Amino acid sequence: MNQHLAALLFTAALSACSTQNVSAPVATETVPQPTDPISCADDAGWDDPATPRQIFGNSWYVGTCGISAILITSPQGHILIDSGTEKAAPQVAANIEALGFKLQDVRLLLLSHEHHDHSGGMAYLQQVTAAPLYARTPADAVMRSGKASRNDPQFLVSPAMPAVAKVTTIRDDQKVNVGSLQIQALATTGHTPGSTSWTWTSCDETLCRNMAYIDSLTAISDDQYRYSDDNSHPGYLASFRTALNQISQLPCDILLTPHPGASAMWQRLGPDPSQPLVNPNGCRDYAAKASLKLDKRLAEESSAH
Ligand SMILES: [Zn+2]
Repeated sequence: MNQHLAALLFTAALSACSTQNVSAPVATETVPQPTDPISCADDAGWDDPATPRQIFGNSWYVGTCGISAILITSPQGHILIDSGTEKAAPQVAANIEALGFKLQDVRLLLLSHEHHDHSGGMAYLQQVTAAPLYARTPADAVMRSGKASRNDPQFLVSPAMPAVAKVTTIRDDQKVNVGSLQIQALATTGHTPGSTSWTWTSCDETLCRNMAYIDSLTAISDDQYRYSDDNSHPGYLASFRTALNQISQLPCDILLTPHPGASAMWQRLGPDPSQPLVNPNGCRDYAAKASLKLDKRLAEESSAH
């Protein structure tokens, strides 16, 4: 290639980059990893600060000790799943910046489920990133209003959340893209009607892993709701069972959960883990445990009558 052509191509490449208005990607190896991160207990408080850290490849933990928030990064922009509580949201924003990423490069907000511990800070994070929130029905309506309805098993004990201005409704199984990133929704109705799990692929220099952020699967409720009452919520229990079955079959090298303690994340992340980060049976085991708990809950409901 002659020098003139090379210079022209170089200039064209530069201008192509600048039109995207995205900060330069932070190469994995240049991000300083905390050598002595805050250690988090499994029963940590929802707002207890945590040190942000790399999970694998372009997947990063930016939540608190008690509630997960996951950042997936690319040169064309980033995806953030979950916000933590309203109070913790500024910590999540600070964690993103502490890793060297810019808030305005977050192009898409997603959530696991429409409860204030996981999405109460979404309005704040939308303000600081200007990114839209994508949510499936009926979590979309809850996020737009900040208010749950009686179809949520925990309706009577669920505090309201700040309403989110920009909410785009997605399908139950939609694939969403930001630049080169692609992440797939899976409706995992059960803990809430809008419960959603997310799968994507992250790669390091040598290999790629199937990442699975599987929503809370606990069958808990206020005093009024009964999972077995199919007349009040037709098909809900069947959807819950279907979700558990689908989760058990997902490609799942690295299981992550909205409550870190639910998948021993604090034993699996960091420079000196006591349990393996990668476990291809992680999703299957997590779903099996949830299925036993659901059976126990249904048995309790029938013995209460
Ligand atoms: Zn919840």
